[in-house]
Amino acid sequence: MLHDPILPLPRNLIGGAWRPAASGREMPMISPLDGRPFAAIADSGPEDVDAAIRAARTAFEGDWGRLTAAERGRLMLRLALRIEAEAETLAQLETRDNGKPIAQSRADMAALARYFEYYGGAADKLHGEVIPFLNGHDAISLREPHGVTGHIIPWNYPVQIFGRSVGAALAMGNATVTKPAEDACLTILRLGALAAESGFPPGAINIVTGRGAVAGRALSEHPGVDFISFTGSPQVGQAIGIAAARNHIPCTLELGGKSPQIVFDDADLEAAAPVIVGAIVQNGGQTCSAGSRVLIQRGIWDRLTAMLAERFRAVEAGPAEGALLGPLISARQKARVEGYIAGAAAPLIARGAIAGDAPAAGFYVAPALFGPVDPASPLAQEEIFGPVLAAIPFDTEAEAVAIANGTEYGLVAGIWTRDGDRQARMARAMRCGQVFINAYGAGGGIELPFGGLRRSGHGREKGFAALYEFSRLKTVVHRFA
Ligand code: NAP
Ligand code: MG
Repeated sequence: MLHDPILPLPRNLIGGAWRPAASGREMPMISPLDGRPFAAIADSGPEDVDAAIRAARTAFEGDWGRLTAAERGRLMLRLALRIEAEAETLAQLETRDNGKPIAQSRADMAALARYFEYYGGAADKLHGEVIPFLNGHDAISLREPHGVTGHIIPWNYPVQIFGRSVGAALAMGNATVTKPAEDACLTILRLGALAAESGFPPGAINIVTGRGAVAGRALSEHPGVDFISFTGSPQVGQAIGIAAARNHIPCTLELGGKSPQIVFDDADLEAAAPVIVGAIVQNGGQTCSAGSRVLIQRGIWDRLTAMLAERFRAVEAGPAEGALLGPLISARQKARVEGYIAGAAAPLIARGAIAGDAPAAGFYVAPALFGPVDPASPLAQEEIFGPVLAAIPFDTEAEAVAIANGTEYGLVAGIWTRDGDRQARMARAMRCGQVFINAYGAGGGIELPFGGLRRSGHGREKGFAALYEFSRLKTVVHRFA
């Protein structure tokens, strides 16, 4: 299925060289499609992370740091073209590694190329300012890179998150060190090779694989890092925030959510139903911005739940090319999601199926729709990260707002109504970072600032907002005669 040359070797990319872990240790990569090992990665330790950070510093103070913004942007645009040229091979590799349906892997590669196009184009378009100040003075603000940025990336969308995080950091002139997730990191290693072929100077992009608690932790705690970008669980995010505070550096944390889709009784249900199902089935529900709760106004409860149930029953989790739902990432994640389903204290409205051609050793879970779900129950409060949708009835707009905002998370919300006044009121009432009205974009929107509050994290990625995060202002006052 895959040509061997495309399978990365168990090596880290450090200062332009592919090196095994200093300890010589490796770890196997398991394919979620069939539960079998098919590759290996370097099982890196703190000494490898340290070497990568030193290489990034050298690049920042040398060949990479010397480039003009336009030159950086041009390299990024060249990489975008390389990604496009190799998109199909990268997508095949991603599906093998991560298990996601090939259509999703292809969409991920298109988004990845687009991130490098977007941020490559933006590299020379963020200006400092001239500030009106005293006579005989010029006061200006310079926008400068942080220096060495650390990027800790989860397994759910490896290349999209690499694109939005490393892409924005590179555009602003930072030198980067990435620790991808041990469960899916092969496409990111392949990107390292494409970047070198595109002409990036050694050390601008360093990649160190291994375990989160070892290599990830070493990166987040290292005093040589100037900024940390983390996407993953709230638990680890908290540890990253504490490590950043110890080193007195800024960080962005993107920690997932329990995002609601709120459907009022005047909504276009034909338009809403497929989007609601897609937003939880996409990527097996393993999406930080998955629409994992649907709040339904009482008058349309029966009708909409019946429409959703019909669609849930039609979904088959399997390895086929056209499957909407693939396997989950790991045996652990499958057990976790099945635990939520088995322990649900709400009626099961509908369940999909597992396809006949799904290997028994693969990590497949049939999607489940529950309702009415108690808004205070774990099913309605906790991020399951699987194809499980909690339907919750409400009567009034005020009640919908209270339930929608009634979790510790706040990432995305979807509002379905034809009433323009209500659309505007609801958009403002949502405690989250992104609101969709009569639409929903789980994970979408390269150009759209994205991020959360409280347990969903802080800081903004994507769009121009990320360029501000990955740079800092310096004020310069120049008195002249
Ligand atoms: P996780 O442990 O937070 O992993 C995210 C990233 O952090 C991975 O690269 C991981 O490396 C690394 N990491 C783990 N422990 C670390 C530590 N002590 N210090 C520094 N880095 C560390 O998430 P997970 O275990 O993969 O998933 C658990 C749950 O988190 C999911 O069920 C889901 O609810 C949530 N999640 C959210 C997102 C999101 O997009 N917001 C993404 C993934 C998971 P290793 O993978 O190599 O350990
Ligand atoms: Mg894997």
